[in-house]
Amino acid sequence: MRPVRRDASPLAGNYGNYADAKAELVSRMGPYCSFCERKMPTSLAVEHIQAKGLAQYANLIGTWENFLLACVNCNSTKGTKDVVLNALFLPDRDNTFHALAYHADGSITASAHAQAAGFEPMVDATLALTGLDKAAVNTADHQGVLIALDRILQRAEAWAAADIARANVAANPDSDAMRSMVVQLATATGFFSVWLTIFSGDSDMVLRLIRAFPGTEASGCFEALIGTSRTPSPNLDALPFGAKI
Ligand SMILES: [Zn+2]
Repeated sequence: MRPVRRDASPLAGNYGNYADAKAELVSRMGPYCSFCERKMPTSLAVEHIQAKGLAQYANLIGTWENFLLACVNCNSTKGTKDVVLNALFLPDRDNTFHALAYHADGSITASAHAQAAGFEPMVDATLALTGLDKAAVNTADHQGVLIALDRILQRAEAWAAADIARANVAANPDSDAMRSMVVQLATATGFFSVWLTIFSGDSDMVLRLIRAFPGTEASGCFEALIGTSRTPSPNLDALPFGAKI
């Protein structure tokens, strides 16, 4: 879950139609689901952190600070769950990259840091909110070839692609063209956190990736010039219950 900064609203007041915020949100944060990190060229929705379907949050339906972007899977799994801001991590106010660990099989767990800090229950709540903790469903075609239809297997595919890219960069460490091409592949593929994990040993690639995905560097969750993860998030817009990690 990529830390992002949406920054101040482009409007003086609330949105009359929340869908009108989509272009600005995509401009600030890129065309990616805020939760599963998939690239969604279409079918990306303006997501209400505190659900528009719950009466107690009806006043937030047009509020910029309540918006993220979500794919249909994350959005529908989240549904009208009550988001208690101090009980889970959110990518606009916490260093969600620091909280989570990504694995080759597509699974996501609490990072070592989060475990040591006693944050595992909050990580579990964060993953459960949009179903990022769901087990993979192994669906095969008529020849028995596994087809990645769900988010976890698509994340595993991204991991495999990123791992090949890492080997190619390692074989051509001085090739700016190769590095540039890999960053293009990463932004076209999505799954920022997978790419950053795979390239964690290459500070040049880390910086390139942080700068290529809109809103990431602006989050302040990565040190300038070196790209190491910074915790807690500086929560630059002072969002409620932010900077938990
Ligand atoms: Zn998603």
